[in-house]
Amino acid sequence: MNEAAWFDEARLTEAAADIGGELHALVSRLYPICRSITGAGVRDTLAILSEHVDIAVREVPSGTQVFDWTVPQEWTVRDAYICSASGKRVVDFARSNLHLVSYSAPVARRMPLSELRPHIHTLPDQPDLIPYRTSYYSRDWGFCMAHRDYLALEEGEYDVLIDSTLADGTLTYGEVFLPGATEREVLLTAHICHPSLANDNCSGLAVLTLLARVLAGRRNRFGYRFLFAPGTIGALCWLSGNEGRLDRIDHGLVVSCVGDGGGPVYKRSRRGDATIDRVMEAVRCAGRKATMLDFSPYGYDERQFCSPGFDLPVGLLQRSAFGTFPEYHTSADDLAFVRPEHLASSFRMIMDVVDVLETDWRPLNLSPKGEPQLGRRGLYSATGGHKTTSDITMAYLWVLNLADGGNSLLDMARRSGLPFSDIAHAAMRLRECGLLGEAQI
Ligand code: ZN
Repeated sequence: MNEAAWFDEARLTEAAADIGGELHALVSRLYPICRSITGAGVRDTLAILSEHVDIAVREVPSGTQVFDWTVPQEWTVRDAYICSASGKRVVDFARSNLHLVSYSAPVARRMPLSELRPHIHTLPDQPDLIPYRTSYYSRDWGFCMAHRDYLALEEGEYDVLIDSTLADGTLTYGEVFLPGATEREVLLTAHICHPSLANDNCSGLAVLTLLARVLAGRRNRFGYRFLFAPGTIGALCWLSGNEGRLDRIDHGLVVSCVGDGGGPVYKRSRRGDATIDRVMEAVRCAGRKATMLDFSPYGYDERQFCSPGFDLPVGLLQRSAFGTFPEYHTSADDLAFVRPEHLASSFRMIMDVVDVLETDWRPLNLSPKGEPQLGRRGLYSATGGHKTTSDITMAYLWVLNLADGGNSLLDMARRSGLPFSDIAHAAMRLRECGLLGEAQI
């Protein structure tokens, strides 16, 4: 490794540490907010994200029909607790917003424990953790608590209060569009509907927001559309409002759970062979290739984007896959679980995806009969006979060999096993030397 390369790497590491710290700070600000699929929590979250990039805030009225769904009433919560006869709050929404089942209807009653029990959710296998539960589409109410605390509840009467409102209002989502040099678009989206869950919500919001800030400061070939919408119903609202222009989307990623140290795990689009699916095979995160999963109709909003009526080229990127880590949908998915270095490596990986999309092209070898002589063009070591060939020499040879007009740089990276950046650099040098032109498609 020469000195210049070392210097660049050190600078990259330093920059990654900075972005990791900034990402974690943003996650920390978003974490305490009580988000749900509607309500003030989503607006408060978008207001914080708007400090970094201009976000268009869209409001969709309750009752609006979106495909087979109806936008629900807006949920507002002010307070919620379970109080024992001795006046002790045994469960208190003010201590953790996970204690309240999201979308709980209002309650203000004294009741015996026997009547309260069916409304309490716990995790017997993880007795110290509070689970995360919702009741969006059936009117109900409930509390979540640590199983250990639940077992300690004494028989008797309890005062139960849920000071909430379910009333006509709006569903809120945020959208950022950064125009590119062409009309083609890349869709990047994260859900915005979970309360205090750091990895499964705040990490995706933070990474995409700071990514939007970077992309807003440079010229791009593609337009970049960022969507911060409540799961399912928010994505459906956006799809419903943009149905006539979805054919502009060439590539898309749903981003979730990108703050832990696992993975990366990538779930392919429904198409399975979309460019984004191939790009995700070529990039790495913290030096690791992604575990590639085939599409399945369960998960995040790729379910909606990849429904057969749309079939968009959108995959799901995660570090640890949802449902596979013990912290998932519990109070252990907290600020200690997500780490700056993991947020930074996820950020870097998505930046690499963007760089591949932006810089991929299809070269044509203008001197295809035999190998062109690289040595006299300064592209080949003057002394022959080395036992091994350097990666950069191999990159020149692969590019020249595969540049028959049928392969893009991405195809070459996959077939050669070399990093996309090496292939792209080699192609640039070969083009400068007049050995490559751009293939006409
Ligand atoms: Zn979730």
